[in-house]
Amino acid sequence: MAGARLVHWQAVRLVVLAVLAAFIQVDSVQPATTAGPVRQWLHAAEDQPSQASVWSRLARQLPVNLPGSRPVFRLRSTSRAGVLLSWPSRPAPDVALVEPARARAPVDSVVRLAFSEPMEATSVEQSFRVDPSVDGQFEWPDPETFLFRPSAPLAYRTIYRVSVAGYGVAQRRLVTAASFSFSTLWPPPAVPFPFTLTFDDCGTAEQIQAILTALDDRGLHAIFFPTGKCRDQFPWLVPTLIAAGHRVCNHTYSHPDLSKLSAGAIASEIQRGVSVQCDLFRPPYGAMDKFGRVYSVATSLGYKIQLWDVDTRDWAGTPTDVMVAMIRARGGVVLMHMHGIHTVEAIRAL
Ligand SMILES: [Zn+2]
Repeated sequence: MAGARLVHWQAVRLVVLAVLAAFIQVDSVQPATTAGPVRQWLHAAEDQPSQASVWSRLARQLPVNLPGSRPVFRLRSTSRAGVLLSWPSRPAPDVALVEPARARAPVDSVVRLAFSEPMEATSVEQSFRVDPSVDGQFEWPDPETFLFRPSAPLAYRTIYRVSVAGYGVAQRRLVTAASFSFSTLWPPPAVPFPFTLTFDDCGTAEQIQAILTALDDRGLHAIFFPTGKCRDQFPWLVPTLIAAGHRVCNHTYSHPDLSKLSAGAIASEIQRGVSVQCDLFRPPYGAMDKFGRVYSVATSLGYKIQLWDVDTRDWAGTPTDVMVAMIRARGGVVLMHMHGIHTVEAIRAL
């Protein structure tokens, strides 16, 4: 009876193995990029007599593809009837994206990958992909560091996806198939002097959003001088500006020429204006009366007068290249408007 039971259990074991093999066969999806490494790994296994058993030969003959994301398994014969299914004791080599170091990268970035152990170069290079595809050269500063140097700058505002697999030299274990992504930024503005962009009044929601996107693309923080009316029209405006890291300062409630108003009316306009922890006040049109009332009322309310160094007259349609030349010529505080005609183009062209 005992012998029969042993035979019975051996039969069960074979069935289990067959089911396992079927699962492996069905469940394994081999990325085309790892075809080389897998074939080579199996070929290498044939050179190792310790692996040569019926079951390991069977394993080699099965169309079992080992995707990099799964542990490599080995089928070994044992002294007792049956097969031991075992995983390697050490984990597969790992890989990390070292460059670009941040999710938003300059267009002149290189791709640098750091592996946890020396790698077989060809297997890495054959599996390496950048999408959208980019021409460039491969370099190996050391056996654990793979560098891809694009032959031209990357595209602006584009999401790139990098994927890689391959196997380590020492253990011929597959690296965990890895993919990374990053997006490209616009380059920093080419202005030789310190400068601050300021945006006055109000605009359409689309104009304001386009300015915010352009500032974000260029990595710029600005000072906004919206009127109180603009805040009332767009309740999202001030929270959005603050959340994006911009300053929000006072430009009166309804944008009158303060030089023609009484001191009391001036004070009312300023007090109903917008200000978020900002002591800067910009009088509409830069209008200051000869009696100093605008100045004295504003200072009595705790404000400093903030005019500008460069008046782009963007509201009147100044061409983009003219505005850019004005800003590059001297830097300083630049007056622009949320309703400017070529304002967004100028931010992008700086
Ligand atoms: Zn204004």
